[in-house]
Amino acid sequence: MKDAPALKVSGLDVHYKDFQALWGVSIEIEKGEIVSVIGANGAGKSTLLKTVMGLLAPTRGTIELFGERIDGLRPHETVPRGLALVPEGRRVFSRMTVYENLVMGSYPPKIRAGRDEGMARIYDLFPVLKDRHHQMASTLSGGEQQMLAIGRAMMSRPKILICDELSLGLAPVIIQDIYKRLVQINRDGTTIVLVEQDVQRSLKAADRVYVMLEGKVVLQGDAASLSVDEVKKAYFGI
Ligand code: ATP
Repeated sequence: MKDAPALKVSGLDVHYKDFQALWGVSIEIEKGEIVSVIGANGAGKSTLLKTVMGLLAPTRGTIELFGERIDGLRPHETVPRGLALVPEGRRVFSRMTVYENLVMGSYPPKIRAGRDEGMARIYDLFPVLKDRHHQMASTLSGGEQQMLAIGRAMMSRPKILICDELSLGLAPVIIQDIYKRLVQINRDGTTIVLVEQDVQRSLKAADRVYVMLEGKVVLQGDAASLSVDEVKKAYFGI
């Protein structure tokens, strides 16, 4: 029998009071995949991620994590089940050290046990964080802060790592470096969901892509079989 999908979102509607931000959104992600959700500003990408994490409640639809319904659960319940979010804009704790930021990522009680091992793994992946172990997060470069945000999310040993606009405000060479580490994280067994505005990068990095426009999924397919033009047309709704 086929395994349940890592993440299955079916017919999701989400409202901010009277404003409907998501309209019947369905996505399915298999274990081990890298999947990009692409869309312009306001397409509903962050709303989708926040709803999956349990930061927002859907008004209709279901969310399943490895076959278990998780819609309606809050982040303190979705994180121990294997979800972790790298939020847009990094949001590291600027007045804490690198070490303290990573400790915050292992806060849920179930996860705390493997903290030292988890930290060693993050320092292997991002040696620059090891060098900056006792440094305040506010003194790190943008790229290093992004690495710290990924490291903090990885401290909960997620099955699915969800990244919201990792490349925002970073130089291309830094973005390339961060994407290389993501591939490594994926090879080590973590399923990855990437939310991006950058069509080319998303197609290159992902196995499959979903394109969102005005709160709906308007195109989906294998990254290898979709052209940049086709995706851009869906992205702009032309
Ligand atoms: P961005 O790349 O700018 O983050 P996005 O694709 O992530 O865009 P969302 O942030 O999910 O888009 O926003 C989807 C829609 O919901 C937009 O029209 C936005 O204005 C609206 N929206 C987002 N957050 C709120 C909120 N807290 N209250 C009301 N409307 C909101």
